[in-house]
Amino acid sequence: MNIENQNFLDRERWQGRALFGDWQTTAAGVMDVTDPATGAVIASVGVGGPSDIARAAAEARSAQKAWAKTLPTERARILSRAADLLEENRSELIPWIMRESGSIYPKAGIEIGDGALFIRHAATLATQPMGLLIPSIDERTSYAKRVPHGVVGVISPFNFPLVLSVRSIAAALAFGNAVVHKPDPRTPISGGIIIARIFEEAGLPKGVLQVVPGGADAGEAMCIDPNIAMISFTGSARGGSKVAEIAGKHFKKVQLELGGKNSLIVLDDADLDIAASNSAWGAFLHQGQICMATGLILADETIVEALTEKLVAKASDMPAGDPLSHQVTLGPVISDEQVAAIQAIVDDAVAKGARLLAGGTYEGRYYAATVLADVRPGMRAFEEEIFGPVACIASFKTDAEAISLTNDSDYGLAAGVISSDTARALRIADELDVGMVHVNDQTVNGGPFAPFGGPRKSGNGTRIGGPADVEEFTTWKWISVKHAATPYPY
Ligand code: NAD
Repeated sequence: MNIENQNFLDRERWQGRALFGDWQTTAAGVMDVTDPATGAVIASVGVGGPSDIARAAAEARSAQKAWAKTLPTERARILSRAADLLEENRSELIPWIMRESGSIYPKAGIEIGDGALFIRHAATLATQPMGLLIPSIDERTSYAKRVPHGVVGVISPFNFPLVLSVRSIAAALAFGNAVVHKPDPRTPISGGIIIARIFEEAGLPKGVLQVVPGGADAGEAMCIDPNIAMISFTGSARGGSKVAEIAGKHFKKVQLELGGKNSLIVLDDADLDIAASNSAWGAFLHQGQICMATGLILADETIVEALTEKLVAKASDMPAGDPLSHQVTLGPVISDEQVAAIQAIVDDAVAKGARLLAGGTYEGRYYAATVLADVRPGMRAFEEEIFGPVACIASFKTDAEAISLTNDSDYGLAAGVISSDTARALRIADELDVGMVHVNDQTVNGGPFAPFGGPRKSGNGTRIGGPADVEEFTTWKWISVKHAATPYPY
């Protein structure tokens, strides 16, 4: 499996460039794209600075009105074709995702499969009814219709770069918005170039989608740009807070999909082999670099030791290495800085009395699957999103305590409850102050049909996916029609 198979992606088109109306060079220059597993340079792309963003936003605005007037059936056809192209070119695209983001093969496959599903879902949005006939207080026809915002700025992270970019881009396009997209500079190909290419080949009119890789400066330029009406941001709470501050000041609609510290509550009646498997999947998938990762395993005190033992056995048998040259469970974490950040949180926990039962070590960017037991409030491992392969186990005495430990978190993205008594698990689910709860499953669940997101530091009250898309990516326009104009008192 390699990245030299270039039939579809066609490196010559985009190497050293960004997508404006066409593939062109950027004022800010060129940026190398590196493989986190080996440090090797795998490609280069045009990097965008503020002037490139301004250019992309102006071009997107020029293209948007015609796109909004394109028949919904045609918009749906182009989206469906883009989904087909993603799936048809799966074997060429998967190695790029593995190379660029340190993904193992199954995770890269999920990105292609879910990415296509998000686009197909968006295609159905284009042909939904888009308004209401509303009561009138006089003799007129009054209706309200959902209309696109105009240009939507999409800012996405490195961890699931394809899915987390395309879920915003496709929904925005479906309703007739144009998009300026800024993928994370560490994953501009999976998060940007691949998406640009499928829409280009699917026949999306030039200018409707602009893809400009760049860093925080480019993102902040999007937040102030007068041609951009909405920002759809997926990333950290810190980045999201800055985006909200700047974009809010410039009167833009802001959608924030941020981090999580997600509890998996394991009750005393759970099957412990299954609970251990769920815990391992939730904590270690993609090296724990997932917003919905199981950040805290809360186990009833009567079963916590037995569950811990099973999880340690699993963690001790998880090979880490370059996913393209070995069959591994864990690939590299994204950067040396991230390795240091993980280690600091593990060290803090151990210094404050947590038991390190597996891992806690690394070689280069390969961080070993780690298990910390006796994790308590006051430890960074209890409170902070780690974004590394670290399972943090804490215990509780009563179901009420499990609920309050979950609800006391700064975050509120997802939770899971595992029990053989579904009614009991559901009673707990109802009490959890989070955006998404999975009964008898771990915390990593997503997809195009459900409203995704959560409160507090996980977002700003917006959701993405399913019924939320029309709320987020369109706005109301009220039109009233008198059959003839009538006079007023003066
Ligand atoms: P990050 O906030 O550092 O970066 C995300 C994106 O925001 C990147 O494109 C980055 O260039 C951009 N950015 C950063 N600072 C910015 C600023 N001041 N203005 C404008 N843009 C800015 O996030 P990260 O650490 O790369 O990604 C991991 C984070 O993303 C985690 O916290 C994770 O939980 C979160 N995340 C959330 C979801 C979700 O759907 N809720 C999904 C995946 C990841």
